[in-house]
Amino acid sequence: MNVAAILKEKGRGVFTTAPDTSLLEITKLLGMHRIGCIVITSADGKVSGIVSERDVVREISRAGASVLTEPVERCMTKSVVTCREADTIDHLMAQMTAHRFRHMPVVEKGRLIGLVSIGDVVRMRIAEAEMEAAAMREYIATG
Ligand code: AMP
Repeated sequence: MNVAAILKEKGRGVFTTAPDTSLLEITKLLGMHRIGCIVITSADGKVSGIVSERDVVREISRAGASVLTEPVERCMTKSVVTCREADTIDHLMAQMTAHRFRHMPVVEKGRLIGLVSIGDVVRMRIAEAEMEAAAMREYIATG
């Protein structure tokens, strides 16, 4: 199973916004869409950062609520680790574990085409395990 299979299941929609969006606006977007992170894109559509609920909470705890008027580019993660459609679920799990994050934007030819979360990875892994168990039961029953 690979990233393409996840995107086929969940679709290719990604919530994005510009680097000058305020942190208050980011909290509204996270809350409104019930998501944990937003990909920050530049005017040409390229990924320029990623911000998660953890970044917002950290900034508020560090500088107080006044930080909410600051642009997201001041606290977003700028070195974004991305994946490709052909990457395996195992590769994503290894990356997420090694870097301790829960989201990976999918980029092909420099264009953002989707976003995979740890929840998507776990769901796909469970579906895979269930299919293998069903195949094994079928094999035993008919063998
Ligand atoms: P998360 O676990 O996704 O909520 O993110 C935890 C931290 O990792 C936050 O500081 C995010 O900005 C950062 N982060 C999340 N996803 C990525 C990614 N794909 N590449 C680099 N940093 C990330």
